[in-house]
Amino acid sequence: MTTRHIVQYADVEPVRVESFKPRAFMAIPVQLWRNGWTGEDQVIRFAGRCVTCDRPTWDRHGDNDPRGVLGDSALSALVATEYEMTGPDVVQCALCANEEPSYKHGLSVARRDYWTYPETADTEEN
Ligand SMILES: [Zn+2]
Repeated sequence: MTTRHIVQYADVEPVRVESFKPRAFMAIPVQLWRNGWTGEDQVIRFAGRCVTCDRPTWDRHGDNDPRGVLGDSALSALVATEYEMTGPDVVQCALCANEEPSYKHGLSVARRDYWTYPETADTEEN
């Protein structure tokens, strides 16, 4: 198990970029980017590497529509509680999340390597 596939964000100040630089995740993990469509500044954070394809994956304040600037590198996190398990959010990119085989592969790795079933509270009785 490595932490590279767990959703986590660098605690650094955003650096303004002219255009989003998805390959600069080591040098500029938090990018301040002006959305030319809306004219708004937006913070784009490197979230980790996709559990399925290892692609650097990015989070734009919950606005992770892959038709936008993030494209295939948009974060689509696997969340343990949605599968009645516990554990950290696991990184999956939009591309893998939208194809059933790659989605299921990522989910199986998350279940095997990162998540556990919660303790059941009713085992002591009866
Ligand atoms: Zn992927």
